[in-house]
Amino acid sequence: MAAEDSSAPPSARFEEVLTISNRIEELSNSENEYEEMGTVANEHESANIAFINSITVPIRDKFQTETSMVQDDTLGEVLLFLEGNPNDFPLNNFGLPQLQRAKHKSFLEKAIGDYEPHMAPLDAARPWYTYWSLQGLSALGEDVSTYRDRVIATFKQCQHPEGGFGGGYGHLPHLAATYAATLSIAMVGGEAAYECINRKAMWHFLGRMKQADGGFTMAPGGEEDIRGAFCALVAMSLLNLPLELPPDAPARQQGLTNFLDNLGDWVSRCQTYEGGISAAPGNEAHGAYAFCGLGCLSIMGPPKETLNKYLDVPSLIHCLSSRHCAPECGYNGRTNKLVDGCYSHWIGGCWALVEAAAGKGLWNRGALGRYILSAAQFKKGGLIDKPGKRPDSYHTCYNLSGLSAVQHEYVFDEDVNSDIGQDNLGAPFHWKAEKQVEEGKVWGDEDVVAETHPVFVIPSQAATDCRKYFEANPGF
Ligand SMILES: [Zn+2]
Repeated sequence: MAAEDSSAPPSARFEEVLTISNRIEELSNSENEYEEMGTVANEHESANIAFINSITVPIRDKFQTETSMVQDDTLGEVLLFLEGNPNDFPLNNFGLPQLQRAKHKSFLEKAIGDYEPHMAPLDAARPWYTYWSLQGLSALGEDVSTYRDRVIATFKQCQHPEGGFGGGYGHLPHLAATYAATLSIAMVGGEAAYECINRKAMWHFLGRMKQADGGFTMAPGGEEDIRGAFCALVAMSLLNLPLELPPDAPARQQGLTNFLDNLGDWVSRCQTYEGGISAAPGNEAHGAYAFCGLGCLSIMGPPKETLNKYLDVPSLIHCLSSRHCAPECGYNGRTNKLVDGCYSHWIGGCWALVEAAAGKGLWNRGALGRYILSAAQFKKGGLIDKPGKRPDSYHTCYNLSGLSAVQHEYVFDEDVNSDIGQDNLGAPFHWKAEKQVEEGKVWGDEDVVAETHPVFVIPSQAATDCRKYFEANPGF
């Protein structure tokens, strides 16, 4: 694309489309023939091009680097999909590709199935593949309780006798695997699934991960980062675990008594000069760590209290807003990085939490919806990072979760589910999906995905049912 001149249209395709449509008009000699030649699609293309033009960022320096050249190439590829319909998908009323529900469902069903021997390196990611597939299917409106027996069979063997879940059978426990396993079990639901978790051993395992400075390590002797803090609190909140540290928790020797000791201050130290949130104090801000940090604070208490107490919220908003790539319409994860569909969730999912703390209307939902529908759907099913990439269950899950964040408005309200979540990290059970969003709407009814809990990223009912069960059965 001709990017040197910032006053030029964002894509040479704009000229190309106009030329083609003129030629079609000249050659047509009947009204039927005119329609068959796809003028409706061109009309939509023109509308989409006008939108893309309206958000083009005019500031650009002329210094070329490897990064700027890759950015130009990416923009060129993405624009083809935003302005046209190279996959030949059926279009919705806004001229954007419809959500290819059946194809994505089929892709995710394969992703949760059996794998060829050469896929053995994925063995350590069983909980993730299960979680991504189940959450993706849930977003598509599928009933995933049909996977209950398989999920129980898998996670019984991934659970470590001393607590927590490993990535595969007989593996050491790890907080990322524990997070994905807990969410998968909550999604399939039911007593048999809930009861396969050894909560007492889990409590001891989480106690061993708690560090004196407030954070959590991911595994025994492993790295301490904000994923650990978030994953640990997700498990504690869903399973209604006691907040006091177990007697054998090493952090007790440094005077800590509670899982939340020093935690808010530790998350606070992860906020960087850019306003975003990093893996650990002193690191670079990153989209996925922002979601982990905000999720962690939103479990500790109502976001309006915890985010404003521990973060500089205006600078956080500045950083998250800066992740929105224009005119690509999707998000990137860091400064100077490329647009990527998984940040539809990692950044797109932050907004419900930030808006609960700072007020509504902070982001462009329509633009993100446009990226997901136009540029992130793979022709044969599954969703992707960006055009040219292959689909995988990770990007399928997080594009669909991002689309859910786009289409639904979540409100934190203490009166919601007031019969549960009164203690032990109960704050996240007081959200409701208020209504489907109309502002910036670029999706038809056929493109609407299911609501997703803004903190747990599973269906809200699954989270509520799990917590209710463990409030009714709190003992070990
Ligand atoms: Zn990605």
